[in-house]
Amino acid sequence: MSFHLQAINITLSLHLCTAISQRLRFLSSNFTPRVCCCGDSFSAGKVMENHDLSKVTVMGNPDLLQKKISEIRLAGPSKLQVIADFDATLTRYWINGSRGQSSHGLLQQENPNYDAKRQELYEYYHPLEFSPSIPIEEKTKLMEEWWGKTHALLIEGGLTYNAIRMSVANAFIAFREGVVELFEFLEEKDVPVVIFSAGLADIIEEVLRQKIHKSFKNVKIVSNQMVFNEEGRLVSFKGKTIHSLNKNEHALDMVSPLHDHLGDTDGPIDDSASMKKRTNVLLLGDHIGDLGMSDGLKYDSRISVGFLNDSIEKNLDVYRKAFDIVYLNDAPMWGVVKLVSQLCSSEVQ
Ligand SMILES: [Mg+2]
Repeated sequence: MSFHLQAINITLSLHLCTAISQRLRFLSSNFTPRVCCCGDSFSAGKVMENHDLSKVTVMGNPDLLQKKISEIRLAGPSKLQVIADFDATLTRYWINGSRGQSSHGLLQQENPNYDAKRQELYEYYHPLEFSPSIPIEEKTKLMEEWWGKTHALLIEGGLTYNAIRMSVANAFIAFREGVVELFEFLEEKDVPVVIFSAGLADIIEEVLRQKIHKSFKNVKIVSNQMVFNEEGRLVSFKGKTIHSLNKNEHALDMVSPLHDHLGDTDGPIDDSASMKKRTNVLLLGDHIGDLGMSDGLKYDSRISVGFLNDSIEKNLDVYRKAFDIVYLNDAPMWGVVKLVSQLCSSEVQ
């Protein structure tokens, strides 16, 4: 099974406020919730006042979580890597009361008949994807069917890269608040972020380029990657299809192709060997299947964060047991920003 990883390099055009860096440095060195230093508008106390997530945060086993935080902090940032799902994890589930689009869903082909056909598939398969009553083996087969049919329609409809560019420009998609700050903090600490998605790599790259406008040398994408012909039309997909329930099968493959792209970046980047030495993992996902993203790594310690965006009552019990931390109601990324500041802190606690 071959698989391809893109090391992305996105053009920088966003100038982040230096105060954010100052705030993150403060958080990193000594994060103490509820401590407010008057006159310092970016103090930890202010951050917590502005981003109090206590009502949307669920921890199944706080003692175990604390133990993992201590272990990871002790090992240091050079041992840490972040593996994140994209759709509804880095991006928001709701935008102004409407469902945000996914990297698959935002795509508008030049032939609208094919958009309609893919929408029909979505309406049939999406409820099945989240149904708690379908056994996992059966659901996995259904997901294979859905992804296979969707990719076939993209090829049959002659998707062009220009259509991707235009689709992203018109897309109803947004990153969670705090994602840019999270990436920036991790970049400063030389902690790699692997975006591991069952969506489409070419679209994710374009979303990052258009919506964040910033290059992160530590961020890489592992996802379904398209192959275009000389006319710019989609002709095939590289490697085996990744869908929402088989990400674990690709976990090992996602590391090795890094060598192929070492020359493509303008900054230091971890190769597969050094990534394998990063034996502590922070995993971010919104789906139970996302937990498999770290299966191929022999990690010492893993903290898993789950975003439970919808059908909360029905799924909370399962999520609480599966993830170390669960954020409800489409919460922003500030809790994870705080967490990584703790994980990368050199303070003895
Ligand atoms: Mg997702």
